[in-house]
Formats: sequence, structure tokens, C-alpha cells
Amino acid sequence: MSSAACIFCKIIKGDIPSFKLFESDKVFAFLDIQPLSRGHALVIPKFHGAKLTDIPDEDLTELLPVAKKIAQASGAVDFNILQNNGRIAHQEVDHVHFHMIPKPNEKEGMKIGWPTQATDMDKLKSLHEELKAKM
Ligand code: AMP
Ligand code: ZN
Repeated sequence: MSSAACIFCKIIKGDIPSFKLFESDKVFAFLDIQPLSRGHALVIPKFHGAKLTDIPDEDLTELLPVAKKIAQASGAVDFNILQNNGRIAHQEVDHVHFHMIPKPNEKEGMKIGWPTQATDMDKLKSLHEELKAKM
């Protein structure tokens, strides 16, 4: 499945050029054009969908092994794998993509806010029951 309006579907087709790193029947990977650090790359399913939950399981299986391969090829010692879903969650391109972002030093690479909430065992316990029942 692909979308005519989607920039990443156009990259997969070759209608928009990219610095391609990997291609198989289900996966495509290329360098991010506005990198946060040297080696910043994107790994995407060929199946078009905006969010992780829109992609069939069989189209997801190869994504992390390819991200791992690129991480190894980049020589990154420290790195982040990031996958954003939705505008408020920092997603700008509505075709699922996993970022592989080397973290060579404090300044370059990904910066994260991590606003932790207080540990609440009662809330965690009821949430745990709710989620288990739905999975
Ligand atoms: P996100 O904010 O998770 O949706 O990230 C979208 C990413 O796609 C950004 O890091 C952009 O730099 C990258 N990007 C957008 N257009 C292109 C393009 N034509 N080629 C390579 N990377 C792109
Ligand atoms: Zn697409």
C-alpha cells in the first residue's frame, strides 16, 4: 500500500531522490536530510501508514534489524532509536519511520525531556490489570 501524496512513498518509488542505505521487499532506509548528528538515518516500512498501529505486524519485523545494521555501520557507540506517532509527539512526516540517531556528544544527536511522574503503586496496579485484559 502506498500514498500518492506521501513524501516517503515518493522516496521509496524513486520519484524523490534519497541517500539510500538499504532496500528489501518490505523495508527502505536512507539518510535523514536534516540530521541531528553524523549517521542519522531513517528506516521505514514500504507499507504506507501514519502510525505504528497502522502497519501490519509482518511489515514491522525487519525494521529494527535494519536500524541495528545502520547503527553498526555508522560506528556509533551511543545512539537512540526513535519513532514518533502524532503531531504532539513530534511526528512531521505521516509515514512510519524509525530514526537511528547517533549520540556522539552532549551537543549533537537527540535531546530528550523526561518529565517523570511520582511512583504510585495503586495506579500502576490498576493500569497493569486494565492493559493485560486488553492485550
Ligand atoms: P519526524 O519528526 O519524526 O516526523 O521526522 C521526520 C524526519 O524526516 C525529519 O528528521 C526530517 O529531517 C526527515 N526528512 C524529511 N524530508 C526528508 C527527505 N526528503 N529526505 C530525508 N529525510 C527527510
Ligand atoms: Zn507513505
